Formats: sequence, structure tokens, C-alpha cells
Amino acid sequence: MKYATIIFVLSLFAVSCQKQATIDTFHAIDPKNMDTSISPGTNFYLYANGNWMKNNPIPDEYSRWGAFNVLAEENNDRLKSVIEEAAKMTNAQKFSPEQQIGDFYKSGMDSTKLNKLGIEPIKPILDKIASIKNTKDLQDVIAYLHTYEIFPVFAIYSNADEKNSQMVITQLYQGGLGLGNKDYYTLQDARSKELREKYVQFIENMFNLTNNEIDGNTASSKNIMDIESKIANMSMTLLEQRDPNKIYNKMTIEDLQKLTPNFDWKSYFTQIGLSNPGDINVGQPEFFKGFNKLLKEVPIENWKEYLKWNVINSMADYLSDDFVNQNFDFYGKTFAGKVKNLPRWKRVLETINSNIGEALGQIYVKKYFKPEAKAKILELIENMRAAFSNRMTNLDWMSEPTKAKAKEKLAAMNVKVGYPDKWRDYSKLDITPDNFVQNVLNANKYNFDYTISKIGKPVDKTEWGMTPQTVNAYYNPNRNEIVFPAAILQYPFFSTESDDAVNYGGIGAVICHEMTHGFDDQGRQYTKDGNLQDWWTPEDAQKFKEKTQVLIAQFNNYTELDSLHINGALTLGENIADLGGLTIAYDGLQRALKKHPAPAKIDGLTPDQRFCLSWAQVWRQNIRDEELRKRLHDDVHSPADARVNCAIPNLDAFYSAFGIKEGDKMYRPKDQRAKIW
Ligand SMILES: [Zn+2]
Repeated sequence: MKYATIIFVLSLFAVSCQKQATIDTFHAIDPKNMDTSISPGTNFYLYANGNWMKNNPIPDEYSRWGAFNVLAEENNDRLKSVIEEAAKMTNAQKFSPEQQIGDFYKSGMDSTKLNKLGIEPIKPILDKIASIKNTKDLQDVIAYLHTYEIFPVFAIYSNADEKNSQMVITQLYQGGLGLGNKDYYTLQDARSKELREKYVQFIENMFNLTNNEIDGNTASSKNIMDIESKIANMSMTLLEQRDPNKIYNKMTIEDLQKLTPNFDWKSYFTQIGLSNPGDINVGQPEFFKGFNKLLKEVPIENWKEYLKWNVINSMADYLSDDFVNQNFDFYGKTFAGKVKNLPRWKRVLETINSNIGEALGQIYVKKYFKPEAKAKILELIENMRAAFSNRMTNLDWMSEPTKAKAKEKLAAMNVKVGYPDKWRDYSKLDITPDNFVQNVLNANKYNFDYTISKIGKPVDKTEWGMTPQTVNAYYNPNRNEIVFPAAILQYPFFSTESDDAVNYGGIGAVICHEMTHGFDDQGRQYTKDGNLQDWWTPEDAQKFKEKTQVLIAQFNNYTELDSLHINGALTLGENIADLGGLTIAYDGLQRALKKHPAPAKIDGLTPDQRFCLSWAQVWRQNIRDEELRKRLHDDVHSPADARVNCAIPNLDAFYSAFGIKEGDKMYRPKDQRAKIW
């Protein structure tokens, strides 16, 4: 399974800092990045980041540009040197990580060969689809495509049983949409309509590149859009999927067969190499009922077009430049507002990262991870855990029994920092220096088989859901664990040179953000052992819901682009985590400052000011309108400016630190501030 494609974890931000100049004195909060012509009470985000934003326009290849991207960019250079070194080795042993990443890279960089081949590398798969004659063949090919992680209609993977979190079970989930999200097929605003029209044109353009393998006519692109629209109509929205009980529907294969009599599940499972699927969680039963109807309704010829489209759309990035460019034209330019595609080496690096990320990661950490950072972070985490526990004790709205359970859960929360103790084994994965597309397919198959092999076995708790080279962090509710990959343990999140206030406002708040996910509107529904099971008294649960309403309203009322608002309900979990992140880390800082003598001002700024500015600078970014629009639909995280300007007025210390008064734009009356944890 590719990282983070399906596995349900709550990350710090959805995918994807300025490096301080080495000759200058180190400023953990650099005054040059601030715009002091703007008052902190008017727009704190711009006050903290205004000059950085002016001086760091979005590069053509990106749709947003911020602290995360700058760190990832620096990381890319390191990863490139790791890969290039491996590619140069003449004595790398077959099946070693060095051989695999080196050869994968070589195969992807050979543009001359790829351009000569055109559609050729995926022709055998397209031929298979062309030979479909009846429903039985159709089902067989769907199964076949799934084993290469090409997922028309629905997806299959493995994950913990939500109510028996020690065991891995089969998971079926809705899917099959080229635009990703149901909303784009159903919304009636001008932008959504335009996207749909351009998507149909894009399908036709892609088919026209296939050298008559597929007839690029308007009818077939319309047929495909028609199937996807029907799939969208039977899909759950992103918001509906936030309710873990709604997407937990465990059944046997017999139940599943009754739900969808037109699809032969026994044959399907056998063909994907899972002769005994055991308990099956069906994420969206209504969706699968709809699929059952579609199987009969849609003519076989149309299904074949739809399957071909799934293959081409999944594989376009690994084919010749004409496919890559057409793909970028839609997903990069039209959808996300980018101007230029990434250079080839970065695209190949991304492919290696998503396919055999831990093979690259294990060489990366040997070279670049500083073990002393790990000890520091572990110490910080324990300080935060103590601060959080103390806040739980003092909560005025929660009863003692629920408090006791909450504290038990917090105490049991597992912590992972840096990189896995045990690496993924790729020792049977065949990667060659001269066949990029086959390498991707081999890796997809390898990862699919790996996912399926876990079904029916106990959960392997040593596994990670992100590679160590990812600039991000996550909480996994089924394991009750927080995870911080090596790559996020860097400035501006964390530095041994930064003062406590800056580290607590950066990585400290990130740590508390992840801890709070265990107690947000979703996470609170899981026990300390990661089971979906209610441990709250009804009164406390009711009070919690009331408290979250305040946060929902705050974010609903925060305008982003034109008349577009943030969806407060969709982003609730992340906004709760940010609120917890800020308030708990602030308490943690007060504890740290008590232990050490209170430091003098640095660059004229008090510790409280530096704490708030540190949080703001972590979120500094520029973003294109298209990307912002897209994220307001697709992203469960609020946009970066709101994570500062809408979140920080809930922190009482913000007002005293910057002298914010009634009448200031950032001022929020005390009784309207959100207080949860
Ligand atoms: Zn989060």
C-alpha cells in the first residue's frame, strides 16, 4: 500500500521555513519576516509573516508555498544525493535498497526511452480490457487491476478492525472517481461546472494520445463521465465519512454477496490472492448496493472505456511526455493553478518515495538524522503529556469518571519518533534500470500483496504510516499513537538553537495537536486500546458537543476566497487539534519557564510573544486561488491563515502578549472563545 493513500490517520496537514542564512546570527523568530506595519490586533498572520510572504512568491511548479514546502524542498536535495549515489554504485547487490532506488531512478530518468515507447508499456493491460466480452470477464479484469493498485469503482486494503483493534481485517471502500471528491460531480456553481467540462475534454485529449489504441471520441468521454457521475451520486461525502460508526459495517462474505448479488465476490477474492477474506468491513454499504445496480445498468462497452480510462489516468505520469504534459495540464494547471510541472528528477523521486519509501528512508536517516534530536523530542513529549494531564484534572465541565478514562488514554498513548525500529522488507521486489513502468507496476503489486497478506493476523505495531523523510506528523486512533517522522524535527518546527518559547510554539504545539486528535470529535470515540467504543458519560458527551459548536461557528464565519467559507464541520477535528495544540503547549511552556529562570526579551520579544509568533510562522505560506478553492472542498484542515487568525484568538495569553483590546479585529470576547481541552 502506498503511504497515506487510504490508511485512516489524522495528519498535521494534508500533504506535503525558510532556511536561516548561515552567516547571519540565528533568529528563531526573524524580524525580517514580519510586517510590523500591520498591527497584530488587525491581522496577526500578516503581522507575523507579511514580509516573508512578499519575499517568497510561489514557484511556478507549486500551488502553495510555505514552511512545509521549503523543508520538503531541502529534503529533496538530500534525497536526490542519496539516490544519485546509489545509482552510481556498480557493486550494489540485487534486491538491496541501494540497487532498488538506484535502478528505479535510472529507469525513470531515461526520458528518451520512455518517449519512444509512448503507450506501449501499458498496452498488455489495455488489451486485457479490450478482450472483455461479458460480466464475468469484466469482474475478472476489475480484480486484476486492483492487484496493481489501479482501483476502478472501489478500493480494497487491510486495516485494524475498528472494534477489535488488535486484528487486521479486509476493508472495502468507495472510490473510482477521477476528480477524487463527490462534490465536483454534484455541485452546481460555475467553477464546478467548468471543472466537469474540462475533465471531459481532458479524457478525450488523453484518449487521442493513445495511437488509436482507444478511440478518442466525444461519446466515450461522455460515457465515462456518466459512469463517474453515477458513482459520485452513490458515494458518501467527505463530511459523512467523518463519522467512524457510519463507515464501520462489518460483515461476512455471505452478507456481502447478499448486498451485491450481481458481483461474484468469491471469485474476486480468489483472484486477488485472498481466498479467505474473513470479516469484511464495508465502508459504504449503500455505495456497494449502487454498484450492484450499475453492473446491470451500464453496457459492457461503456465499462470497458471506463476501465481503460482508469488505467491511463493512473499510469499517465510514468508514460511518455505527451501523457505527462496532458495530465499536468488538467490536474496541475486547471485544477491546482500550477504554471509548470516539476522537473523530471523530482517526479521520479516522488514515485520512488510513494512506492518504496522505506528503502529510501533507511539510507536517508543513516545520513541525515541526528539522534540527539530524538532524545530532546521524547523529553518534550513527556512534558506535554504532563501538561495535558494536568489540564484534564482541572477541566470544569467534565465528570470524574470520564476524566479518569481520558487520563488513562493519554497515559497509554504510544509515541514514535524519527524512523521505524523495523524496516519494510522489499527483498523480493524486482526493480530494473531500464523499465520504469514495469517497476511501478511491480512495486504496486508488491505493496498490494503485502497489504493483503496482513489480513487475519494481529496488527504489527512496529509499522509506520509515513516515511521518515516526510515533513508531517500523525495520530492513529486504532493504535492510540502519535508519530513524528525525522523530517519534521527541524527548524522552524524545532531547533536546539531555538529558545523554549519558539520550540513550544512550533514542534510543541504540533505534538499537542497530535495528542489532541486522540480527544477530538472522532478520536474521542476510541478507547485507550484503539477500539471504537464509547467511554463517555452521556452528559459529558453532550457538553463536549456543545463546546465544539463554538469552534464550528467560528470557522464557518471565517471568509476565505470571495464568498467561499471554511466548512466548520468538515474541519472540526483539525480545528480541535489546533486549539488543543496551542493551549496545551502554552501550559507546557509555562512549566518549562518555571524550571529555568525567565529569559530576557529576544529581538525585543517576550516569551509569550515568541510562542504565538512561532505558531504563526510554522503556517506561513502563499497559496494559489485554484488550490485554495480545491482545499476548501477536499481538505479536512483549515487554510493556513485561519489556523492562525481564527485559532489564536481563543488563547487568552495572546491578548496580554500583544495588548489586543476590544475594537481590534482580532479581538474575540471572552465568553465567545472556544475552550475544550
Ligand atoms: Zn491533524
